[in-house]
Amino acid sequence: MSSASEGGNGDRGAGTRVVGAGRRPEWTQGIVNPPVWRASTILYDSVAELRQRGAADTHHKLFYGRRGTPTQWSLADALTQLEPGAEATLLYPSGVAAISTALLAVLSPGDELLLVDSAYDPTRLLANGLLKRFGVTTRFYDPTIGAGIAELIGPNTRAIFMESPGSLTFEVQDVPAIVAAAKARGVTTLLDNTWATPLLFPAIAKGVDYTIMACTKYVVGHSDAMLGSVTAAPGKYAALRDTSYQLGQHVSPDDAFLGARGLRTMAVRLDRHGESALAIARWLAGQPGVAKVLHPALAGTPGHEIFARDFLGASGLFSFVLDGGDDAARAALIDGLELFGIGYSWGGYESLAVPIDPQRIRTATRWEAAGPAVRLQIGLEDARDLIADLDAGLARFRAARG
Ligand SMILES: *Cc1c(COP(=O)(O)O)cnc(C)c1O
Repeated sequence: MSSASEGGNGDRGAGTRVVGAGRRPEWTQGIVNPPVWRASTILYDSVAELRQRGAADTHHKLFYGRRGTPTQWSLADALTQLEPGAEATLLYPSGVAAISTALLAVLSPGDELLLVDSAYDPTRLLANGLLKRFGVTTRFYDPTIGAGIAELIGPNTRAIFMESPGSLTFEVQDVPAIVAAAKARGVTTLLDNTWATPLLFPAIAKGVDYTIMACTKYVVGHSDAMLGSVTAAPGKYAALRDTSYQLGQHVSPDDAFLGARGLRTMAVRLDRHGESALAIARWLAGQPGVAKVLHPALAGTPGHEIFARDFLGASGLFSFVLDGGDDAARAALIDGLELFGIGYSWGGYESLAVPIDPQRIRTATRWEAAGPAVRLQIGLEDARDLIADLDAGLARFRAARG
């Protein structure tokens, strides 16, 4: 197990940290990129050694393929080093697998989960499906609740699951206030930190118990592998590890390699994603046909002040609301875009646009808007080219809206 303090890299810049993280000499053997170690069987010299290795702590020791090899350990260790104060990290075959395993590690039948109303839809589906079936109840809460969460914490509340900013609508939560209320009542906190990554929001340092990433997005960064991670605060790792082992969670070394390769450029990519997305968001805010831009760095997005207080920067995903119009007018905008692909996921190098309909999945809050909405993932293309593409798209929208 390693911690960020052990690495001694806490004061260095994000670019320096992602380049060096997790590259232990015993795992790289002097090769720059930690190589792909594939394994199922590990051979032992004797029955005695086989028994002894099985009985010992297998963390970072070759034991059986399911417990990983230096390829997976290197990426997990790198993610731990990027979270000041963290204990350790485990990898998962997707972001959803990371979310479900972390929740199963914490919750038992009879427990209550508080889940933010702006959570990623599959997280809601898990709460309303498997968790419910196994006797866990869920209450959804307003993403702007802040310290008011204390009033929702009841005798059976075991965990609070946050996502900040929220999926689709980008409300920023007061994570420190929610964490303080949770700690006062012995409630475990989990955060889906996919949007910010530890480079823009160091969640463990803010007091979160488990911080989760869909590494599919910015860590992999090239839209070619699925990967998730959970990083645990001190004292929280053992429960996560035991549940992960029992569920047989495992990531292939090939996918871990792709994650580690993507990680090296994550700081420079995030800078570019963030800078272009903010420029495009500001431009959009002044365009005819746009009613509202939902970007945490823009005033008017709920929780903008909290964003300015707590985040080190913005990444490349945000939404905007059209001024009137229907589904067909929105499709006219999106379908004709030349530089934006139409597809789910995000965090890769290429720009994407998808229609969003948040009102369909809210239960604790109402989401009302002047028209249909669009989510943009701003890639690494030149911002002025993306603006020209969106400009033509808005003209198509206005013509279709009439
Ligand atoms: C994509 C996403 C996930 C799930 O990640 P997968 O790797 O696609 O399973 C979780 N949370 C958020 C906020 C996401 O955008």
